[in-house]
Amino acid sequence: MREHPQIAIDGPAGSGKSTIGERLARRLGYLYVDTGALYRALTVVALERHIAPQDVAGLGALAELTRFEVLPPTRDDGRQYTVLVDGRDVTPELRSPAVEAAVPLTSSHPRVRHAMLARQRALADSRGVVMVGRDIGTVVLPDADLKIYLMVAVEERARRRHHDLLAQLGATAPSFEAVCAEMALRDELDAGKMRPAADAVRIHTDDLQADDVVERILEMVGLLA
Ligand code: C5P
Repeated sequence: MREHPQIAIDGPAGSGKSTIGERLARRLGYLYVDTGALYRALTVVALERHIAPQDVAGLGALAELTRFEVLPPTRDDGRQYTVLVDGRDVTPELRSPAVEAAVPLTSSHPRVRHAMLARQRALADSRGVVMVGRDIGTVVLPDADLKIYLMVAVEERARRRHHDLLAQLGATAPSFEAVCAEMALRDELDAGKMRPAADAVRIHTDDLQADDVVERILEMVGLLA
């Protein structure tokens, strides 16, 4: 393994990437980077400035000129990290419905992805990192020491998301069918970005708890040393 090891975890929406990535990073003492949060942060600012998700020039310039920082949580409100955009905390906005709807499109433009690529790589330079996303093993960190690709059936991902929404929203939560349809649509929009790297280890997590997956990955890391 290199001096600052890199672990790439990719997978579709709702596959448990964030939970697994965060726990794994904590166990290893590595930096945890959720690249979806960067695309979400960009989308927050684009929406505020009325830059449309289709506006390639506007979004490209925004991605190139904006300063993004990912810090350990600065508030105890259940967040996994704090994201600053030009010094401003946008973490509470990252999962708003407007951002959920726009982020697959804002993140689809090559100019935007190119601008974000340099930032993601820079984050992996200074210390060991667990980076989660869609294209980490294929594009962002193609030489990562270990690449994981999480696979889960869409129904199971929708079941988990629906369970969380019921806990958060109670009776006002959307139906399981609506969550499932939304998840399938997100998969379709993200399909172009989703390719398992040829050398990724695929883990089917339908019947596994997050901690089981973390243990399995830790075993693989142990074998690399
Ligand atoms: O992982 P998360 O659901 O937070 O990602 C939000 C969106 O950001 C994804 O639906 C995808 O469109 C985009 N994304 C991306 N490349 C990544 C991570 C996320 O395009 N590496």
